[in-house]
Amino acid sequence: MKVNHHALELESSYLFSEVARRLRVFQQENPERALLKCSIGDVTRPLPRIIADALKEAAEEMAHPETFRGYGAEQGEPFLRQAISGYYAQRGLQIDPDDIFISDGAKSDLGNLCDLFDADNTVLLPNPVYPVYYDTSIMSGRRVVFLDGTQENGFLPMPDESVSADIIYLCSPNNPTGAVYSREQLAAWVQYALARKAVILFDAAYESYIRDPELPHSIFEIPGAQQCAIEINSLSKMAGFTGVRCGWTVVPAALQLDGASLHAMWLRRMSTKYNGTSYIIQRAAQCVFSAEGQAAVHADIAYYMENAHILKAALTRAGIWTTGGDNAPYVWLKAPDGQGSWEFFDKLLHTYGIAGTPGAGFGTAGEGYLRFSSFGTRETVQAAAALLETL
Ligand code: PLP
Repeated sequence: MKVNHHALELESSYLFSEVARRLRVFQQENPERALLKCSIGDVTRPLPRIIADALKEAAEEMAHPETFRGYGAEQGEPFLRQAISGYYAQRGLQIDPDDIFISDGAKSDLGNLCDLFDADNTVLLPNPVYPVYYDTSIMSGRRVVFLDGTQENGFLPMPDESVSADIIYLCSPNNPTGAVYSREQLAAWVQYALARKAVILFDAAYESYIRDPELPHSIFEIPGAQQCAIEINSLSKMAGFTGVRCGWTVVPAALQLDGASLHAMWLRRMSTKYNGTSYIIQRAAQCVFSAEGQAAVHADIAYYMENAHILKAALTRAGIWTTGGDNAPYVWLKAPDGQGSWEFFDKLLHTYGIAGTPGAGFGTAGEGYLRFSSFGTRETVQAAAALLETL
């Protein structure tokens, strides 16, 4: 018996576990001090009432013989795929419900999509970026190359003709930098992928936070994307579903690569290894896309974006360089005086009791930066902002 040695190549301490460990130690050593968590990547607002009611109603259906449901439709319930297709249609996009696969969230699909591709592929990743793309590529034994985000390119690396890649992960709005690709920039990525017969895995988990009407929410707003891209999305941050678990992935029927239909392959893969998202949760997800559901989740999104605004304003007043936070729930800031990410993390924690997430944990290009999340409560954010102004 041999284990997957690529899995052993992962660094033992996943970023968020190390942050959690340091916060635990801080609290043990300073039980009397308040901890202001601006590191949190999890939502804090409860589910909107209308969505919680949809959950309850669906649970009740399960208790009656006439409405009880067992295994569901393999790709996800048609009512939900229709609702998601309607969500795209509101922005003028035609996404066939047959191209939509319901999942238990974006993270699973971002990792599982690797099952569709040969191990002998090169993966291109922006740096810094959500660590799951890297870890999952390493686990499956693939070569990884990076394109660096910098202050100069606005943390939006663009295709480099001298770099060849087969699988490209893009995250827009970006976690951790909050940067969002423009339509022209995404068009350049689509051209690059089409020219190389590469595939783009487009993570749109934060698209509902985009405020600027000029910015694209979906890769499918770009002509040609149906021939080279898969889009992964989630209700985690859009609707407070981090604990409820539901997302979706669009694999266009038009996506043919290496002589194979990725849509047919993904359907085969999902029906082999996944037995579907709970019916109850799919009913709650359907409610998210109703007019009342959208109004409710947008009120929570506005709350988090106001948090981002408060944090950003305080940092700016303290003379700290920031980006992000305008079209994403993350503010990306530069550690002052040339401090390293973990050094500044420790300083903020021990001097002010404020927790951020060290940029270096998202890739080498994140060194010297820190991420603040706007998912905390208003009280936490206001208390942190008041302290930050004294930096
Ligand atoms: N993609 C990005 C960029 C994320 O930041 C996250 C969660 O933090 C996910 C995907 C995972 O989301 P889910 O809860 O749907 O698995």
